[in-house]
Amino acid sequence: MAISENVWRDTVNRNTFVSLRKKLGKTQAQMAQLLGVSIKAVHSYEQGWRTIPAHVERQLFFLISRVFEEVNPEKQCWVIKKCPKDRKYNCPAWEFKAGKLCWFINGTICAGHAYKTWKEKIQICRVCEVMSAGFDFVEEASE
Ligand code: SF4
Repeated sequence: MAISENVWRDTVNRNTFVSLRKKLGKTQAQMAQLLGVSIKAVHSYEQGWRTIPAHVERQLFFLISRVFEEVNPEKQCWVIKKCPKDRKYNCPAWEFKAGKLCWFINGTICAGHAYKTWKEKIQICRVCEVMSAGFDFVEEASE
């Protein structure tokens, strides 16, 4: 299934949050514990009373990425993206052996340069073949 760029360019909304929590099979209390936030915070995310912060979005994506099977799981991002050596050796994804978890690390050198914030970086990652290969179900969750 192809990923809708419109969906991916938005931060996780409340419907996506609820759907992903349910896909993980977690209650609000369990989700709060996993995310390191209060149950009240999870409730607020799901009601749309609070914006889902970057660190929570990142943690949520990490949990999802560990549960759902990725496409080409054996391939590292620098292989998939065919990074030239000079870029690869200067990229934190290579330095920290992040492989397909490259999207989790800030400062990776993608689309020509490193982005300073998670919000900027994840917009690039969401439409990148490395991350999107393992997250195609998120489109369903956002509908
Ligand atoms: S754009 Fe993101 S997902 Fe793609 S290779 Fe770079 S860090 Fe990884």
